[in-house]
Amino acid sequence: MKKKLAIIGAGIAGLTLANFLKKNSDYDFMVYEKQESLSLDEGYGIQLATNSIKILNEINFNKIESENIFNPKSVDFFDIRNNKICDLDLSIFNKNNIKYTTLLRSTLIEFLKKDIYTQNIRFGKKIKQVSELKGKILIKFEDNTNDLVDYVIGADGIFSETRSFFEKKKNTPIFNKALALRLILKSKADLDIDNQNISLMMGNNMHIVIYPINKKKELNLVCIIRNKKYNPDEIKTLIEKTVLKQNPNLRKIFNSEIKSWPLYSTPNIHPSTNKKIFYIGDAFNGLLPTLAQGAGQSIESAYEIFNLLNEDKLEKTNIYFEERSKKAKLVRRRSNLNFFVFHFSSLFMQKIRNVFLSFLIKKKFFINSYLGRIYEN
Ligand SMILES: Cc1cc2nc3c(=O)[nH]c(=O)nc-3n(C[C@H](O)[C@H](O)[C@H](O)COP(=O)(O)OP(=O)(O)OC[C@H]3O[C@@H](n4cnc5c(N)ncnc54)[C@H](O)[C@@H]3O)c2cc1C
Repeated sequence: MKKKLAIIGAGIAGLTLANFLKKNSDYDFMVYEKQESLSLDEGYGIQLATNSIKILNEINFNKIESENIFNPKSVDFFDIRNNKICDLDLSIFNKNNIKYTTLLRSTLIEFLKKDIYTQNIRFGKKIKQVSELKGKILIKFEDNTNDLVDYVIGADGIFSETRSFFEKKKNTPIFNKALALRLILKSKADLDIDNQNISLMMGNNMHIVIYPINKKKELNLVCIIRNKKYNPDEIKTLIEKTVLKQNPNLRKIFNSEIKSWPLYSTPNIHPSTNKKIFYIGDAFNGLLPTLAQGAGQSIESAYEIFNLLNEDKLEKTNIYFEERSKKAKLVRRRSNLNFFVFHFSSLFMQKIRNVFLSFLIKKKFFINSYLGRIYEN
């Protein structure tokens, strides 16, 4: 008899796993999503490095409409006054059709949903209770339906409720005393940047990242600001106090509609205590966005689970947690270091950082060790 899986959560992690299972395996599966539909929030850009593109191409991402994605060739570093510091050649990691890619999150979700939407996703599903029954897991949902499965994959994001059902040890996400602002720019306006590249502007306690999200020259802007509190009603004042105070010329670009989020990450990486339950994506480990690897790690973790399932090794070998945490810790160290270095408040430290950055960025050994280990899986 076919084994059965329940995937909890239809984000990037859950949908990636579902696509691999749909195309290549003998497992029965269902994705259970608590919302009534998939969130296709238009104004949310995402960067996918070669580690995720290599995996996604196995489910035909290379056939996606090329108008809807972009392949930036470098990251250009600036100070907050838009003076260029140096640039990082991203294309050194590209191979044939495996290229660093930027796009709207909704484009990625549309791609991931198309083959599984009708048959393999159920919406409005919240777990009410779980129990073990004859070596299987019985999941009861709040709408009084249930499912008896061999494995449960928790893919329900950083505040994973699946974890709270199955694990005694809490891994409550911490607020990083920072927030993210996002907006879409129709053009680069007066900014002295190359709109074909990723531009990163570093200021006092904040940084801005701007990148193209399609071939229409639309740009995604994300601004990370350190602040002790997150208050959505005070965003305009905060922009004024932190960003515009450092560079008033940026006023024009902050005139469009702005969305904001508080930034959370998980302090620890805990294993699953049940050998039938596995966590992927942000439910495994929630990262700061300063290496742009959250979605990438979601895709990688889904792919690892799929491969182990396909080889019938998931439960037998017990290697998923060990291997995944090694990579997650590496990414976490880099994300945390970037978060620290991008935001120096002292001018002296900023100058030293810029000198080091300009020097190291041209050194192959450094780039291969800092990024190559993440991008080449
Ligand atoms: C400001 C910012 C910028 C970022 N930029 C990038 C970037 O450029 N590149 C990158 O790679 N990553 C980036 N990330 C990170 C990336 O967006 C996330 O890491 C990634 O989306 C996580 O995917 P996921 O599927 O694990 O979780 P999520 O996307 O959170 O999906 C979880 C899903 O589970 C559902 N769910 C929740 N609870 C339940 C429940 N109890 N039952 C059923 N369903 C449930 C939710 O509704 C949701 O659909 C960024 C993050 C932030 C905050």
